Amino acid sequence: MRILCTGAAGFLGQHLTRRLLDDGHEVVALDDFSTGRVEHLPAHPRLTVAWGDDTHTQGVDVRDAIALQKLGHDFDRIYHLACPASPPIYQRDPVRTLETGVWGTRTILYHATWKPGRTRVLLASSSEIYGEPQTHPQPETLWSHVNTVGERSSYDLGKAAAEALAIAYMKKYQIDCRIARIHNTAGPGMNLRDGRVVSNFCVQALQGMPLTVYGDGSQTRSICYVDDMVNGLVALMEHPTNPGPVNLGNPEEVTVLALARRVRYHVAGREDGPIVFQPLPGDDPTRRCPDITKARTVLGWTPKITLDEGLTRTIPYFREELAKWARGTST
Ligand code: UDP
Repeated sequence: MRILCTGAAGFLGQHLTRRLLDDGHEVVALDDFSTGRVEHLPAHPRLTVAWGDDTHTQGVDVRDAIALQKLGHDFDRIYHLACPASPPIYQRDPVRTLETGVWGTRTILYHATWKPGRTRVLLASSSEIYGEPQTHPQPETLWSHVNTVGERSSYDLGKAAAEALAIAYMKKYQIDCRIARIHNTAGPGMNLRDGRVVSNFCVQALQGMPLTVYGDGSQTRSICYVDDMVNGLVALMEHPTNPGPVNLGNPEEVTVLALARRVRYHVAGREDGPIVFQPLPGDDPTRRCPDITKARTVLGWTPKITLDEGLTRTIPYFREELAKWARGTST
């Protein structure tokens, strides 16, 4: 199949791109390289990078409908992942984040309307659409509980609006758009300065620094290993019928403090070590755990990699990235 992947050079995108190439597909990688790195993409005869200029220095912004037109409409699948997901990064430019969620998704959905019988879309939505959840764990039937004027609103509402757009486009233009609600995911390929919890803790522990826990660390997250997530995305995209929004994530819930201790254990062989407590960012969700009954029963998908196994696979990557950074060869 011919597949367009937006956000292909990002954390999830690079893994998905490699998986699609391994599966024998032809992939067009679209990224504005604002957080992703072209070096994350493999040199492969079936991979084309969409460039925004002749000198191959600028990527393509997913909001740019004209650049998208130039790629043509011959896509069987579009995985629409483009959007920064790290809170400190997406909060640096909330206008761009919101526009990427709404306008970028509109551009992709509109593109799919050219060949509605052929082009199937997968929207990378997020657990963030639940906001501060009122039910635990969170099933797909749970309504959004987002602060519309808070620090996270640009991302959360961008994703919520993207879902609403997908539903509206499906109804009006008979396209097929799958909605993946992606929960916290980690693994090799994250940037050293990504700013999210697993990368921060790994980098800090490997450097022998105190781990920065925001708030008292009693808030919870459920961390999915990246390979499991990629399997889930492909399973949802290729399911014979559209099952509506599907949570993808690992239901193994931990407090942030417990996560800090596990990372320290995997790096230093013991759980205790210095921690600095820093203020909890605004609207930081108290609990986050996906109810994955739907993914299990409909897609037959379930994450296989435990938190500990995921950390065991991730820490050597960060060790190597830090070594590259120390040698000045980091990307
Ligand atoms: N967090 C933390 N220390 C860090 C980075 C994050 O305690 O150095 C906390 C953050 O406040 C949140 C959780 O870890 O409660 C997950 O944060 P992340 O940025 O990874 O993603 P989120 O799920 O909040 O979007």
